[in-house]
Amino acid sequence: MDKISVIIPCLNEEEAIPIYYEAMKPVMDKMNEVEYELIFVDDGSDDGTLSIMREMSEKDSRCRYLSFSRNFGKEAALYAGLSNATGDYVVVMDVDLQDPVELLPDMYEMIQSQNLDRVAARRVDREGEPLIRSFLSDCFYKFINKISKTEFVKGARDYCMMKRNVVNAVLEMQEYNRFSKGIFQWVGFRTAWLEYHNAERSVGETKWSLKKLALYSLEGIIGFSTSPLSIASIMGIIFCFIAFIMTVFIAVRTLIFGNDVGGWTSLACLILFVGGVQLFCTGIVGGYLSKAYLETKHRPIYILKEESQKHLEKEDTANA
Ligand code: UDP
Ligand code: MG
Repeated sequence: MDKISVIIPCLNEEEAIPIYYEAMKPVMDKMNEVEYELIFVDDGSDDGTLSIMREMSEKDSRCRYLSFSRNFGKEAALYAGLSNATGDYVVVMDVDLQDPVELLPDMYEMIQSQNLDRVAARRVDREGEPLIRSFLSDCFYKFINKISKTEFVKGARDYCMMKRNVVNAVLEMQEYNRFSKGIFQWVGFRTAWLEYHNAERSVGETKWSLKKLALYSLEGIIGFSTSPLSIASIMGIIFCFIAFIMTVFIAVRTLIFGNDVGGWTSLACLILFVGGVQLFCTGIVGGYLSKAYLETKHRPIYILKEESQKHLEKEDTANA
């Protein structure tokens, strides 16, 4: 019998977890040809999330949980879930029902009948989302696809079902600065996309502020492209060229019309502009340097504070 592990990252989701579980139950019961394992990952919540997870793992042996010592971010939660999943197939999904549970049977069917390694979900619209968010996200996809060799599919969610070989490949990518959308694409394998219409959050609010999203986008850009590093060289060449033209122009003008003292304002503007460009380029190098610095520290991606006992006990008896 195949086993499907579902990884569900949760940050302050005490209200959403029970709703999610109620929606998942009929799906799991209906797919009686497979065994399910739900791995809830508590990403350092400060509400009742952990106690709800404890309760659920007591009530239903299919539920397990991992709890972090603090908030490490959704990426770390996904990594922890993948490292702990025991299924032949692994699903990654959000707890807020924005990743429709009804797609699970289709994903399982597709992955088997079409001999795929991964089936991932893609939103074809973003209805109900603030316009500014959709616009910025559009810009991000256009930009990153221009500068990165890895393809970023527009509207792609983290929601996907993958086979064990994909999970192992993703786990081999030990990087500290994780950007799953890129990692899943980077490892390759045969992937099909399942399209669906955007669903709004079941309850609660998004955990991603615009600032958090902007930093996350930078993570993606720095993690999957080194093109921004060439900006300094390109700017340098352009500026040298402009400087050469200007030198020739001013020399000729001085020879013909003589020297006057005007033009200091434009000079001040130029100095400021060039200074700005230089700082901008140094900033880009700094961005890459800081990521490289964090990678060299080899810090753990997450730290566990607690995990469901039942699973551990079950493993102990199996080992005994
Ligand atoms: N999440 C998490 N850690 C974080 C932020 C979010 O585990 O630091 C979880 C959150 O609980 C949810 C999922 O990641 O299950 C997606 O978050 P959210 O719905 O807030 O994002 P959105 O759907 O708005 O992109
Ligand atoms: Mg959501």
